[in-house]
This record gives sequence, structure tokens and C-alpha cells, in this order.
Amino acid sequence: MGRRVTEVRLDGVRKEYGETAALSRVDLRIRDGEFFTLVGPSGCGKTTTLRLIAGFETPTAGRVLFDGADATGVPPESRGVGVVFQNYALFPHMTVAENVGYGLRFSDPPDGSDRRERVAGLLSLVNLDGLGDRRPEALSGGQQQRVALARALAPGPRLLLLDEPMSALDARLRERLRLQVKEIQSALGVTTVYVTHDQEEALAVSDRVAVMNDGGIEQVGAPRAVYRRPGSRFVAAFVGHNNVLDGEIVADRDRFDSGDEMEGFDLGRETGELDADRMRVAVGDETFAIPSPDVAERGAASGTPESPSVGDRITFCVRPEHLRLGAGENRLRATVESAEFLGDSTRVHLDWKGRRLTLRADDAGMYVEEGTGMHGENDVSTGEVEVGFDPDDAHVVEVR
Ligand code: ATP
Repeated sequence: MGRRVTEVRLDGVRKEYGETAALSRVDLRIRDGEFFTLVGPSGCGKTTTLRLIAGFETPTAGRVLFDGADATGVPPESRGVGVVFQNYALFPHMTVAENVGYGLRFSDPPDGSDRRERVAGLLSLVNLDGLGDRRPEALSGGQQQRVALARALAPGPRLLLLDEPMSALDARLRERLRLQVKEIQSALGVTTVYVTHDQEEALAVSDRVAVMNDGGIEQVGAPRAVYRRPGSRFVAAFVGHNNVLDGEIVADRDRFDSGDEMEGFDLGRETGELDADRMRVAVGDETFAIPSPDVAERGAASGTPESPSVGDRITFCVRPEHLRLGAGENRLRATVESAEFLGDSTRVHLDWKGRRLTLRADDAGMYVEEGTGMHGENDVSTGEVEVGFDPDDAHVVEVR
């Protein structure tokens, strides 16, 4: 069906339902062949965005463009998109093969094959060889979802849209199926927009993700970039576990160069230690060295002014895997609250003067030490521990 979409663009898209603005303003550019994921909490507008791309909804304002051409008024069946929903929506009275063949109701197979061959080829692609004569009810949830995928792929769509396709499946099956979906997508090279509320799933499968919140886009980027350099407090807290801390800049490089002293803080000790690209931040009555946001990051961190300076409020984050017991240049003393043994690691919850911190340890064994307050995998007493992090493992999220 037609040529492939090379690019999907949403330009200033707004969607209102009566008084409710489901999307306040969405600008997106989805590239040819990429696996692009919309991720965010329930109600943030992911499904609405997908339905606007599919053509099931019309924007209140703004435009949806396919390859630069305005698709806003084009009906769904003329857009050449394949859609897979959360609830499979297979026809119970049809066999598996008939369900897949239903995807060809508007068009002949794109590769010139006959319909039977096309259906058999697709069933093989989704690993369901030999199950064409069954009814959907005789399949597992994961198998049914693969039938739905094969049906969406049958006409050779220009664009594949997947809305929470795995949310009805158990965790192990989701992991397996998401890998299969990713493999099929990259083998076909079909531009794919995937909706999930599961940030781990988003990081695992996507070329790029758009993190959504409250009807808008918070950040777009490759999974690693979004994880390592969250551009807002919301992204820092939503994507993966994180320790998000608020403080105040008490010294930057200029301050040290001029030899000034900050009242109330003993900076003498650090004067010689603070590198040119670091600043010192007070959180409560503790101070930490953290990196100054560089020019590149200032662009990414939405709230970051051109040149952060002493007195500015700052939000930064440190991942649980970067918080270490008895190590790191920046130190603090916290109280152990609880621990979760996760098999390959242990997540330890700490209280630091009313702030909740999380530390991830690769080896639970290292915590079972005298005097650490941690005695067993999930069995911890409420001892005090010293934890630390290195300045380069802190990431500045916002400066105000
Ligand atoms: P979920 O993960 O729970 O499916 P979502 O991110 O996909 O959430 P949407 O379904 O896009 O969110 O909904 C965004 C907002 O728009 C919500 O507040 C929702 O209640 C509202 N909304 C969606 N569809 C309609 C509708 N047809 N009429 C009125 N409000 C709607």
C-alpha cells in the first residue's frame, strides 16, 4: 500500500474534549524506520496522540503531516497505517488465518503474493506456523497478540501504531514479546509508534522515546540520553529510579576565583578541590560538589538559565546505582529504612533528614556487614550508614 512514510510530524497539535484539554500542545517529528515510543503516566495523552496519528481523532488545533503533506483530514483507512490495540480485538468467529486475512480487506498483498501465501508468511513471521486453523479462543494471550500484529502488518502498512499491546500479558511474556516485536519491526523497517506507560519497556525497545506528562511532551531522546540526562524534574523521577534533590548553589567557579567566602558554610576545605567545571550546592545543611551544566546541557535542561550562579535554586539527581556505601567524594549519613532483594541487586531505601533516598547494590552480600545496619537481604535494622556519590555522577535537572 503506497510508499512508506519517511516522516510523521505533529505541528502544534492540541486536542480538547469539551472543557478538557487532553493535549495542550504537541510538537513531534518521528523519523523514517524508527521505533518511537510515547511513554508517560495514565491520562497524560499517549493514546490521544496515537489516535490523532491514526486519524481516529481530529486535532482541535495544529496539523498532522505524513512526509510533509497535511494528513489532518485524511480518513484512517486512507492513511495506510496498521494499528494494534491493547485488547487484541480479534474476531472470535473467524480462524486465526481469517483474522490475519481480514487485514487485506482493503487491498491486495503488497508483495504480489496471493492472499494465502501472504497470510502463511505473516503467521511464520510472528512464530505462529501451523496455527492458522485455530480459533482465537484456543490461543494464549501472547499468541493472540501476535495474530493482531500479523493482521496489522498484512497490507504492508506505511506506519505501524501499537497502543499498549502487551499490557494484558504477564511480565515474562511481555519481555519476550517486546523483543519479538522489536525484531519484526527492524526486519521490516516499518516506522513504528508505540504507546506504553511502562518506562522500562520504553527504554528496552525504542530508538527514541518521548516522555509525556499532562498533555505535553517533556523530553524526546534516545533511551540512554533520557535516562542519563533527564531534562526536567518529572523525567528524572519518572524514568527509572532516581534520587532527586533540591538545593541552592553556594559556590561556583567565579566565586572561588575571587576568593569569596559564603557565610554559614565552611568552604575553605574545598577551595582547592573545586574544578573549573564544578559548583558547590547546599542541600539542607550539607554541601556537595556537582558538575556545572555545560552549554550543551543548558539546552536540554529546560529550566536552566544561561549561567547558573550563587544563590540560584537547583535540582539535581543521582541514580541509585551511583550512590555507594562508604565511598564517593560527596558524603552524607542516612538511616536505613528497608531493603528489597531483587536477585541481581538489592535496592536499599534510606532516610536522609526526611528525604527518601534509594541505593542500588549489585551484590547484596557486601551489605551484610557488621555495623552497616544491614544484616540480611530483606532484613535490615535501622542503623545509620555513610553513603556517597562522585560529582560526575550527579546530573543537573533544573536551575531557577
Ligand atoms: P492511559 O495510559 O490511562 O491510557 P493516556 O496517556 O493514553 O492514558 P489519553 O487516553 O490520551 O491518556 O487521555 C488523555 C486525557 O484526555 C485524559 O484526561 C482523558 O480522561 C481525556 N480523554 C481521552 N479521551 C477522551 C474522550 N473521548 N472524551 C473526554 N475526555 C477524554
